[in-house]
This record gives sequence, C-alpha cells and structure tokens, in this order.
Amino acid sequence: MSTVSDAQEPRGLEIPSGILDVDPEELRRLGHWVVDRTIEHITTLNDRPAISVMDYVDLDTALGGPLPIDGAPIDEGLTLLADVALENQQHGDHPRYFARVPGPSSYAAILGEWLATGMQGIASSWGGGSGTATIELVVLEWLREALGLAQGSEGVLLSGGSMANTTALITARAHVGDGVIYLSDQTHSSIKRGILAMGQHPDLVRVLPTGDDFRLAPETLRAALVADLTAGLVPRIVVATAGTTNTGAIDDLPGIAGVCREFGLWFHVDGAYGGPAALVEDRNGIYGLELADSFVLDPHKWLFQPYDVACLFVAVPGALYKTFAMHPEYLADAQGGPVDFHNRSLELTRRSRAAKLWLTLRTYGVRTLADAIQRGIALAEYAESEVANHPSLELVTPAQLGVVTFAGLGVSPEGHSRATAALTANGFAAVTCTQLHGRTVVRLCTINPRTSTTDISQTVSDIADALSTEALNP
Ligand SMILES: *Cc1c(COP(=O)(O)O)cnc(C)c1O
Repeated sequence: MSTVSDAQEPRGLEIPSGILDVDPEELRRLGHWVVDRTIEHITTLNDRPAISVMDYVDLDTALGGPLPIDGAPIDEGLTLLADVALENQQHGDHPRYFARVPGPSSYAAILGEWLATGMQGIASSWGGGSGTATIELVVLEWLREALGLAQGSEGVLLSGGSMANTTALITARAHVGDGVIYLSDQTHSSIKRGILAMGQHPDLVRVLPTGDDFRLAPETLRAALVADLTAGLVPRIVVATAGTTNTGAIDDLPGIAGVCREFGLWFHVDGAYGGPAALVEDRNGIYGLELADSFVLDPHKWLFQPYDVACLFVAVPGALYKTFAMHPEYLADAQGGPVDFHNRSLELTRRSRAAKLWLTLRTYGVRTLADAIQRGIALAEYAESEVANHPSLELVTPAQLGVVTFAGLGVSPEGHSRATAALTANGFAAVTCTQLHGRTVVRLCTINPRTSTTDISQTVSDIADALSTEALNP
C-alpha cells in the first residue's frame, strides 16, 4: 500500500516500504471497518454476555505464537483484536454490567478519543501543544464551575483515580510537610497503596472506623487527631470520600472540612466514583466541595468516557507546579503560555485526555449529562424497591449514588459468592459481592443510563433465585 515515492532518495536512504506510507483509500476502508465493528459492538451488547472470559491457553493460541518477523495481513489482526482480545473482557458499557464500577462510554467521547489518537494529540507543554493545553484548561474550568469547587483551583487530567489521588497526596505532603495521613475503612484501597508507594511510613497512616452508615464521622476524626497530638505526632492530611465504592456513602464533608480547618490540615476529597453526582442541580447530597484542598473525579466511571481519564483539582494555586515543575534544557523552547501540563504531575509525554471530555461537555451540555447521571441514581432506587419487595432478600445499604447492597436470608458468605458467580457466568448480567465491615453482600452499581427497569427487576429476581438455592443447600 505504498503511495509515497522514494525514487528521489539516495541509495541506502530509500523510505522502507510498508510502514508509515499510507494509501488513503486503504486506510479509509480499514477505518470504516473499525467504525462498523464498534457500532456492531454497541448495538448488540444487550444480546451478548456482560463479561466474557476465555481460557488463557485458548487466548494465547489465538493471539500469541512466535515473534512475528514477517508481517501478517491487517484485516486478520483487526478481526482477532475485535473478536478475541476485546471481546473477552468485562463489558463496562453493557446495560446489565452491575459489577465493580461500570464504564458506560458515550458516542461523543469515543469520537473525540479517536480523533485525538489519529492526530497524535499531545498535551505536555504549551509550545508542544497549545491547542490541547487550552482544551484541558477549558474542561477543567467547566467542571470546576459545575462541581462548585473553589475559585482558582488548578487541575490536571490523569489516567485514573489511583494516579489522581496519589498525585493529590504527593502535592499535599509537599505543601504541608510530613505527618500523619487519615483515611477511613471505606477509603479506596488504591489510596493507601499510593500513600505507601510515595514513601509514607506505615505508622503515619491512620485507617479510621466508619459507623453503621459506612461514613467517616467528624467526631471519630477529631478523637484520632487529639490522640495523635497527645502522642506528639503531627496530623497533616485527611482523605474523605464522596461516594464510596462499596456503598456510595458520602462522608460528612462539611463536618470533616470544619475539623480540618480547626486543626490546620489538608482536606482531600476522593470523588473518583461519586463526584459526577454533584453536577446534578440538587447535588445529590454532595456538599462542601468548595472547602476541599484537593478533589478527584473519574470521568471514565460516571461521565461517560472511554478509559482512561481522571481529573485532579488542587485549590492552592501553584501547589501542583511547586511539586512537579522541571526545567530541563531540552524542553526550554517548549515552555511558556499559561501552563505546561508536564509541570502538574509525574507525566511528561501525555496524550490529550481532554479531547474526548471537551467534546462530550460541548456536545451534550451539563444538563443532559446530569439527566443521565440522575437516571443511574433512580435505577438504584428502583433496585432497592425490588429488593425490599422480595421476601427472601434483605436490604443491607439503601440506594446511594447508584449503589445498592443486599443479602439473601439464611445464606452463607460463600453462598453469596457462588450465587453471583453463577449469574455472571450465565452471561445475562454481571454482579459481584463485596464485604461491609466483614459481612458479605451482593452489590449492584447501576450507573448505565441505557439500563432498563426490566434489566434491573430480572437481575434482582435471578439473584434471589440463585440465593434461595444456596439457602436450601448451605
Ligand atoms: C475507582 C475508584 C478509585 C480508583 O480509580 P481508578 O480509576 O480505578 O484508578 C479511587 N477511589 C474511588 C472511590 C473509586 O471508586
């Protein structure tokens, strides 16, 4: 497929054929195949399993083999990618994918991502990408305003909540200094991992107990702070959660912010999961974000984005820059303008994650996005009522930000795991268990706006059936 003539190139410097030279018609044909295959994926999801897992040996037989010294036809490779590699996944965009956290991506976002990839988008320095830097600044400011974060907050897009929270805490520690960091027993596990990886001594990490509502109470925090101060330690950073992964619970953010202010602590809010719910007009109970020193949300969870993208906001101007700025001689002529995004995290070369998010916000507008988010919340409430109406099920935590948990009466922990595994294996829906203060429960996360109420009622009834079998054979 060569169209670039290398006839004029000197001997030994001819352009190698078969790479980078593109026959536009051939690329158009292949591109159309990719688009058609994606449309087929999206439009047939309802009739396919929510999670497909193939045996490793079979996968390796199809996708592995000896190192390819000579190439193979691209049509064949594309088909293998689509039908084998990308088919055997958890389909977070499936209407009955209720496990972990779904990823219902939207059309505008997919197209924005494709375009940025095709045009080799980069968002590292101003000189290296002023347009891409500008859309990143624009989406961050749009979201800051819509979420009600502090004026003047600065941000950066990262790969996910894990990286965004860790980047926030590195910044926080650089700003406030060494000392104790406070989490709760419902804080996402990636945060403790990040804290330890950034060299925090394990003795200076407190995991505070949550109450029966799985929320961190300000009084619990205060007692821990007093105890540490009495022991001669220096409290520094508090991590609260706006929408826990387990139950969707929102910590008492204004109350915790008040304690942080009183003791002079950095107040970080992890809204990786639940943050987008604050975009809805009544904020769904998420108050006090304007008091956060740093805040994280994951648009690849509940803002309808393909993987990956997370937003980090830091309310202290210049704190990200002070923590991450570097000025090597080989980048001197790329710097300038309002921002060099490589000075706001550990990433230097970085793709334009803003492209998809900018196109999403611009295309749908906050109102439509808020409606789609609210539907996920309503679906969890619908699931809660289905559970409550079922004589063999016990509601464990009510619908909160798109998450509901429940248990089967008289069913062992293993029975719950077997019942959800059986349901997931039959392909109709993907459902998983979690543990709440040691108790095994079934958890549904219902944030896909394309899920129907029939999807929910059928899933709840199937789980109830599977659980009753377990109750009969404990
Ligand atoms: C998912 C999640 C994370 C981690 O985010 P990733 O994007 O998976 O890295 C952190 N905190 C909360 C509350 C989450 O739900």
